[in-house]
Amino acid sequence: MRHVAIIGAGPSGCYLADQLVRAAPDIEVSVIERLPVPFGLVRYGVAPDHQGTKAVARLFERTLGAERVRFFGHVEVGTDLAMAELAALYDAVVLATGASRERKLGIPGETLPGVFGSGAFVGGYNGHPDAPQLRLAGVRSAVVIGNGNVALDVARVLAKAAAEFAGSDLSPVLTAHLAQQPLETIHVVGRRGPAAAKFTTEELAEFRTLARAAVEVADPAALDAAGSAASPNLEVLKGFVANPVQRPVVVCFHFNQQPTAFVGDERLEGVEFEGPAGARQRLAAQLAVTCIGYETTACGTLVPQRGVFANEQGRIGEGRYVIGWAAHGPNGTIPGSRVAAKALAARMAAEVADHQRAGAVGLATLLVQRGVRIVDHGGWQRIDAAERTRAASDRCREKFTSVAAMLQVMAQ
Ligand SMILES: Cc1cc2nc3c(=O)[nH]c(=O)nc-3n(C[C@H](O)[C@H](O)[C@H](O)COP(=O)(O)OP(=O)(O)OC[C@H]3O[C@@H](n4cnc5c(N)ncnc54)[C@H](O)[C@@H]3O)c2cc1C
Repeated sequence: MRHVAIIGAGPSGCYLADQLVRAAPDIEVSVIERLPVPFGLVRYGVAPDHQGTKAVARLFERTLGAERVRFFGHVEVGTDLAMAELAALYDAVVLATGASRERKLGIPGETLPGVFGSGAFVGGYNGHPDAPQLRLAGVRSAVVIGNGNVALDVARVLAKAAAEFAGSDLSPVLTAHLAQQPLETIHVVGRRGPAAAKFTTEELAEFRTLARAAVEVADPAALDAAGSAASPNLEVLKGFVANPVQRPVVVCFHFNQQPTAFVGDERLEGVEFEGPAGARQRLAAQLAVTCIGYETTACGTLVPQRGVFANEQGRIGEGRYVIGWAAHGPNGTIPGSRVAAKALAARMAAEVADHQRAGAVGLATLLVQRGVRIVDHGGWQRIDAAERTRAASDRCREKFTSVAAMLQVMAQ
């Protein structure tokens, strides 16, 4: 048997595990995840009201329970064991660790209370154990910086009425907290023009369906100026302008605006921008969320360069591979991860050598000796079942938001 360790149980890790066992009957895979729960950004990134997208977890669930796949949850490579120890146990090690560190704008005021990076804010509403509890105060006006789908997710979660979260896994407490904010305006601000926005058109058009939100464009002339470039997003934006509606919350799209400062004494009061020809403006805000991308972080002794692990079509070096956001940065979708996994699995099936290593059995022995509390696939299934059972009738799940609470379920 050849033994492969995949570090990270997000979409890239899960798809790769699936493809590896399909590609070669003599490969066994261990999927090692630092949290007690799998699925990475499917659980902690994808918005709670997009359960259709999160449903891919069912597929990953089958993979983690498959015969030649073993899940090692609550095991962090670089903390619970060294990369060298892992490499000594497996014929190949794959980094599928994602890109968890959010990029900073590097402008004044970024640490003011009320300013969040999208990792913290999205992690907060998705119940990530490392994310801060979202405690907002009197948010009338919110500024969301970025022109990608993460910015749209954040704006939509803020814009929706409480009833629109039925069937989601947004915690009822947080739903009530968001509903308490006296929200009037959500500004979504991009530094480039509307034709360059990276929104998925379907996600942009979804704003039309929201119960309490109307969409405006701050400078409709910018849409005409970009007009000759054929862009489905431009058409959707022009549609919003052409068919205005009256609703209590306005979602206002701004383009060609470079953020220059977050301002406020004790907390955020506004965000300053510089537009075309140096024109400056300040948008009042009690909440700002920057959605400007992520970079990968070191995994044990392996250190990324310029936000990713340098690789040649997924290969870092002898017996070392990388996939997903750790390989190419924070772009691409979940279905795209499957395509990449298929290609890397084919390559690995052809070139990984059998060194007669101990694989999962050796890893389990080492971790038990070290007193690491492993959450295996059965353990995750118990946490999963407990989260579903305790959910309110209009929620599909009530997540445990601390590692301790997850481990507590295992003790019951
Ligand atoms: C806010 C947000 C919303 C998104 N919404 C969508 C959407 O609606 N549709 C869509 O198609 N795509 C969406 N995406 C993109 C999608 O989530 C990514 O393409 C995908 O998750 C990348 O997968 P990955 O496996 O590379 O990384 P991740 O999903 O980040 O998984 C990495 C995993 O590695 C683990 N890990 C990290 N370091 C270690 C370590 N040292 N030891 C052990 N484990 C470790 C992490 O805990 C994590 O579970 C969204 C992304 C974000 C940020």
